[in-house]
Amino acid sequence: MSGDDNRRVGQVKEVTSLSNPIVKDIRALAMKKFRDAQDAFMAEGLKLVIDAMDLGWTIRTLVFAKNQRGTPALEKLAAKTKASGGLVLEVSEKVLGAITRKDNPQMVLGVFKQRWMPLKDVRPTGNDVYVALDRVRDPGNLGTIIRTADAVGAKGVILIGDTTDPFSVETVRATMGSIFAVRVTKANAEAFLAWRKASGARLFGTHLKGSVDYRQPKYDGGPVILMMGNEQQGLPEQLADACDQLIRIPQTGRADSLNLAVATGVALYEIRRHALPSGGI
Ligand code: SAM
Repeated sequence: MSGDDNRRVGQVKEVTSLSNPIVKDIRALAMKKFRDAQDAFMAEGLKLVIDAMDLGWTIRTLVFAKNQRGTPALEKLAAKTKASGGLVLEVSEKVLGAITRKDNPQMVLGVFKQRWMPLKDVRPTGNDVYVALDRVRDPGNLGTIIRTADAVGAKGVILIGDTTDPFSVETVRATMGSIFAVRVTKANAEAFLAWRKASGARLFGTHLKGSVDYRQPKYDGGPVILMMGNEQQGLPEQLADACDQLIRIPQTGRADSLNLAVATGVALYEIRRHALPSGGI
């Protein structure tokens, strides 16, 4: 054993070397192929990790900076991690910076098992709302949409076709913790359309050529799926043709279209208007 890499303090492992194999595995989570191989992803921030565990997510490794040792919230989290069979790593700030690829890294991060909701288990009822995203490319857009879906009380996000990874570091950061609160499902277009038919949910597609103003439909008559198009190409015919209605958000000015995440937010707040409290929070 060399240096302090393999010294154990209780069940807490202290690591200062970037060549430590556990640290190498965590750093590899920056790449999708390793996230998939490990069926894992990384989330940064003490509050976020606490929330994730409260919501029942499986933590594999808790990593924290040495200077955080003794903080009551962290000690509690470390005990919980160990009790659930996870590993606790105390690392130098240099190691944390290398893992997160940031100069001022968060002092705590968690490695969690990925969680996907199988399409067959998505069963819309009542006035449930789901967001379906056609080939979303931008991690910031996806993270922002997951966060917004959480905020309005949507039940889940369905990723159609080849999309950016909801468990990438950028997407998880943009969700600000909502990745742990919103169920995420993936499907190809054919499977999505077959599922939607069987589900009985109404499908509203957003489209620049939509004939209906997004404020017109009544959204509280059963489950609703709000479908958004790809950032560059919008919805393909196959998906647009399957919609009950194509809705449009009016625009004036020079912009051709709204940003995908902004358009999703505008439409979601209208769709969920009947369910959201008014007159203060
Ligand atoms: N060039 C694409 C097109 O022609 O559809 C623009 C795509 S836009 C940046 C990405 C997605 O945001 C669209 O597919 C649609 O779902 C939504 N969107 C953006 N602006 C919209 C608007 N004014 N009305 C309805 N949907 C809109």
